[in-house]
Amino acid sequence: MSIIAENLEKLRQSINDIALRSNRSPDEIQLVAVSKRFAVTAMEEALEAGQAVFGENYIQEAAQKKQALADRVKLHFIGHLQSNKAKTAADTCDMIETIDRPKIVRSLHKHLENANRHLDVLVQVNLGGESQKSGILPRDVESLATFMQDYPRLRLRGLMTMPPFTPDPELTRPYFRTLRALAEQLNTKGLLGNLSRVELSMGMSHDYHVAIEEGATLIRIGTAIFGARPPLS
Ligand SMILES: *Cc1c(COP(=O)(O)O)cnc(C)c1O
Repeated sequence: MSIIAENLEKLRQSINDIALRSNRSPDEIQLVAVSKRFAVTAMEEALEAGQAVFGENYIQEAAQKKQALADRVKLHFIGHLQSNKAKTAADTCDMIETIDRPKIVRSLHKHLENANRHLDVLVQVNLGGESQKSGILPRDVESLATFMQDYPRLRLRGLMTMPPFTPDPELTRPYFRTLRALAEQLNTKGLLGNLSRVELSMGMSHDYHVAIEEGATLIRIGTAIFGARPPLS
């Protein structure tokens, strides 16, 4: 078995255990394998081990990988999206998790309208108010979600966050709770369609266990599957 296949197996077992111990069904939790900066060959290994959903941060890289792997993979875009890349993003990705401003909503909607398609999206929330991170501030989430109601080609399915990093994952718990509360507010106000399932994309290699305990439905995991990332070239 390859290391990647082994890591995936351990991870699935761990997700399963944490879900059950949190009184959740393991199939509520979808694993997004974050393959940014890893080669297509690494993704092929994960595919062979049954992993078909991948997360990418750079749109050109995502497009190249989609071209190589085609419909065998589903790609989630989890990086900062520029408006001039909206068309490629809409054509390449199965979900964009990082909607954070009206401008990107308008650009994506225009391309989706031309292509006569819909796209699942999440709004990225910058819970720590960190200036170096993308995402909208919590107090502005509702107005962005309201704005998005006029752009129905984007199907808003929930929220995503990347909280401030702390070595102690327990300290991220309040952030995960806040994201969940925000999503519940939006849903109560009818801003997430009439979804029976609201997506919460939260939790990475070092804190996914806390995220699952707090209701994550999508966890984005890179290093725990693929190992240390190669440096930016
Ligand atoms: C890189 C990245 C991840 C994966 O992080 P790991 O610590 O490698 O699991 C998750 N989410 C986002 C937004 C990322 O950029």
